[in-house]
Amino acid sequence: MQYTLLIGGERVAGTAEAQSVYNPATGQEIARIAEASPEQIDAAIAAAQAAFPAWRLTQAKARAEVLLALADRIEAHAEELARLESDNCGKPYPAVLADEIPAIADTFRFFAGACRTQHGQAAGEYLAGHTSMIRRDPIGVVASIAPWNYPLMMAAWKLAPALAAGNTVVLKPSEQTPLTTLRLCQWLAELFPPGVVNVVYGRGATVGAPLIGDARVRMVSVTGSVATGHHVLAAAQNGVKRTHLELGGKAPVIVYDDADLSAVVDGIRTFGFYNAGQDCTAACRLYVHEKVYERLAADLASAVSTIKVGTQHEAGVEMGPVITREHLARVEAHVERARAERHIECLTGGNRAAGEGWFFQPTVLAGARQHDEIVRREVFGPVVSLTPFGDNDDVIAWANDSDYGLASSVWTQNIGRAMDASARLEYGCTWVNTHFMLVSEMPHGGLKQSGYGKDMSVYALEDYSVARHVMIKH
Ligand code: NAD
Repeated sequence: MQYTLLIGGERVAGTAEAQSVYNPATGQEIARIAEASPEQIDAAIAAAQAAFPAWRLTQAKARAEVLLALADRIEAHAEELARLESDNCGKPYPAVLADEIPAIADTFRFFAGACRTQHGQAAGEYLAGHTSMIRRDPIGVVASIAPWNYPLMMAAWKLAPALAAGNTVVLKPSEQTPLTTLRLCQWLAELFPPGVVNVVYGRGATVGAPLIGDARVRMVSVTGSVATGHHVLAAAQNGVKRTHLELGGKAPVIVYDDADLSAVVDGIRTFGFYNAGQDCTAACRLYVHEKVYERLAADLASAVSTIKVGTQHEAGVEMGPVITREHLARVEAHVERARAERHIECLTGGNRAAGEGWFFQPTVLAGARQHDEIVRREVFGPVVSLTPFGDNDDVIAWANDSDYGLASSVWTQNIGRAMDASARLEYGCTWVNTHFMLVSEMPHGGLKQSGYGKDMSVYALEDYSVARHVMIKH
């Protein structure tokens, strides 16, 4: 397949340096794709700017119809998209088909409805003889930068609220995982007026940086690492651009002594290792009450050792490789440094797994302490740490003592304890007796260095629009 960019409604090949795209399960190259040149980046921004005045004035109903049609195309091509995504990311194919594609279609459907039903402050006479009303209007050209861990889902989280709100977009997928987003270009070209959505391919330094630095871009939305978030903030400073940042995470999981331990084991086996742990909400940093610590550690290690690691289409596969050779080395180095600490014990995994690709064994590290690197730094791989606790105030303080603030969970049968912990945790989301569950109606986003943009829900529509005041003198 020839992968093309989308600029001003035209599907065109990039004209700059070509990049290799790999299948992480085999380490083989599966595509070579040319990056957008500086002239093509300029043309994409110009097209988005030219399309904005008309798109911002379309009725919500018209925008909704296009988003609904896009959701239908995605669903009609579910198997093709799932195959591309799993080939490019190494994810188990059945999981992409069953979990990701329906959620992606639902994202477009949710925002199709949400943009038609916005709420706000009542219009009224707040000054005698004057009527005031609030409008929610689009911002302009949005530069959207997506990561590699859920490429099409992240594209959907960025495109759907921005377009529903009436903005125009230049989207850059990750240089490592562009295939599904570039496949989407055909339907974007068929469904949207030229220039409303543009897609440019390339690396952060060559394509991302000039895109976010362009003066015509009024908002930058990025999901990626904290380091990239810093670049975005620096670039946004000049033009005082709006920013929407979804950065990393290191989710604490508090397991109290009255928790249903078999539910905890099932939950962590799934939510700590889904997508090979390459998830900013992964349940990776467990604090377990000392009364149940030994039992939970033993049961979890035994459950995690049964996770079936393999290639995309292997029968029963539960976990694939990590994304790149470099990332595998990074995960391995994290685990080696943790194992070098004498108080940390590796209960299962701990090494690269067999296979031609970039596989790492599902790993459980016990005895970790609050100041250990494995507790503090994001590994973004299939690695879970266990830390015992005795005191409730200590565990809440440890959970909050993190640079990150995206997701957390609390496991207990005591509703009061769950509510107290939920109130005190400084995270964008706290789950009780589960983890990882997302729905289109509820916001996803963080605090602290995890960033502050909200994805999904009406809060994303707010982030991608501006509240304006119109006052009429009688
Ligand atoms: P990354 O920051 O390296 O890359 C993300 C995107 O930013 C890529 O498209 C990349 O090309 C681009 N980029 C890099 N440097 C840039 C620059 N200077 N200017 C413009 N664009 C630039 O992150 P990644 O390795 O792709 O993704 C993993 C990270 O993303 C992890 O830290 C993870 O926690 C985070 N993440 C966060 C969320 C969330 O919702 N908070 C979701 C998924 C991933």
